[in-house]
Amino acid sequence: MPSQICNVNSKVTTLINQELDRQRRGIELIASENFTSQNVINAMGSCLTNKYAEGYPGKRYYGGCEVVDEIEQLAIDSLKKLFGAEYANVQPHSGAQANAAVFLACLSAGDTVLGFDLSHGGHLSHGSPVNYSGKIYNPVFYGVEEETGMIDMDKVEALANLHRPKLIICGASAYARDWDYQRFRKIADDLNALLLADIAHPAGLIATSLLNDPIPHCHIVTSTTHKTLRGPRGGIIMMGKDFPNPWGRRTRKGKEIMMSSILNSGVFPGMQGGPLEHVIAAKAVAFGEALDPSFISYGKNVIANAKAMAEAFVSKGYNIISGGTDNHLMLIDLRNKNKTGKEIEKALIEADITVNKNMVPFDDKSPFVTSGIRVGTAAITTRGFEPQDCVKVVDWIDQIVMNPEDDNMLKSLKSEVNEFMTQFPLY
Ligand SMILES: *Cc1c(COP(=O)(O)O)cnc(C)c1O
Repeated sequence: MPSQICNVNSKVTTLINQELDRQRRGIELIASENFTSQNVINAMGSCLTNKYAEGYPGKRYYGGCEVVDEIEQLAIDSLKKLFGAEYANVQPHSGAQANAAVFLACLSAGDTVLGFDLSHGGHLSHGSPVNYSGKIYNPVFYGVEEETGMIDMDKVEALANLHRPKLIICGASAYARDWDYQRFRKIADDLNALLLADIAHPAGLIATSLLNDPIPHCHIVTSTTHKTLRGPRGGIIMMGKDFPNPWGRRTRKGKEIMMSSILNSGVFPGMQGGPLEHVIAAKAVAFGEALDPSFISYGKNVIANAKAMAEAFVSKGYNIISGGTDNHLMLIDLRNKNKTGKEIEKALIEADITVNKNMVPFDDKSPFVTSGIRVGTAAITTRGFEPQDCVKVVDWIDQIVMNPEDDNMLKSLKSEVNEFMTQFPLY
C-alpha cells in the first residue's frame, strides 16, 4: 500500500482501539446510546457498503440487487413482526432523516406542525428554528407543566384547536413519562390532522410491550434503531395500518394512492439517494435480536435500573423532572445543588462517567450551559448492570456533584470506576 494510505489507516485503527478502550472502561449514561452486539457490528462492517440499490426490493434502479433485496426484505419483515406493523421502511439513514421524509411526504412548506418543545425535552427535528423543520414549516409547541414536569393533555388539545396543525407529533428525547397516544389521536382526528409518534428513545421498550403502544393509535411512527432498540445507527418509518392518502391524490390511471407509497417516495427519491444496505443488514440482525425473548428481560432490566437510579437520586435530594421515570431515562435539575449541566458533565468525564448536559423545562441557562443532566440506563443495562450497581453509580455521581473541582477525588474515582467496569466485559 502507498505509505500515505498506510499511514492514515494505521492512525484510524489506533483511534478506533482508543475508542473501544474508552467504551470498555467507562460508565455510559448517555440516554441515547447503547452497545450493539458483535453480529450487528459485523453486518455493518461488511461488503454490503459497496452496493448501490436506489429504489426498493424488486424495484431497483441498479442491477445486481438480488441479494440486497433479500436482506432489505428480511429487515422489513422482521421490523413489521417486532412492532405488529403493516408497513415498514428501513431506509432512513437516521431518526432525523425519517422525520424529514415524513414531513416531506405529508406537509407543504408553511404548514403548521404541533410538537413537543425542544427546551422541555423535544427533538430538533420537530420544528426547532435551527433545523429544516422549523425553517420550512410553521412549528408550534406544547410543553410540560412547571409544577409536575408532565404534559397536560387538556393544554395540548387547546393548543391544537387554536393553531389547527396539519401534523401533530408525540415523542421526545428527554421525557421520562409514558405517552397517551389514544388521547393524542382523538385530538388529531377532531382536526383531521395526521398523528406522528417519534419513538426514537423508547422504541426497544415499546417493542417489548413494556410501555404504551403507539402503533394502533398513530397514523405514522418513526424511530431510530440505535437507542433502546440496540441496533446500528439509523432510522425507520412504520404504520400500524396502511390507508389511502387523505389528500385524494391519485395515480395517472385514477387509482387511489396509499400512504405507504407516499411515505416510500418521501424517503426515496424525496429525501435520500442510495440506501445503506450494510446498515439495513445490521438493522435486520438487531430486529432479530429484539424478537428473541431475552430482549424482554433486557427491557425490564432497563426500566428496573432507571427506577433504582431515580429513587437513589431523589433520596439524595436531587430534583428529578416529574419526580421519577416510566422508561429508561431521567432528567435531573441541578439548580438546587447550585451546579450547571456543563460543569457536571465535564467533571463526570474526568471519572469516566459519561452523561450529557441538558436543558430542563423552564431553564434560565443557555443550551451550552444548561441547568440539568440527562441520564439513561439502556447502555449500562447491556453491560450487565443491576439495580444495586445503579445505586453505586448514583453515589459516585453525588460525590462529584458535591465537589466537581476536587481533582484528587476525581482521579481516585476514575480508578474505582475503571476497576468496577472490568466485571462487565464489552466485545
Ligand atoms: C435521537 C432522536 C432523533 C434523531 O435521531 P438521529 O439518528 O440522531 O437523527 C429523532 N427524534 C427523537 C425524539 C430523538 O430522540
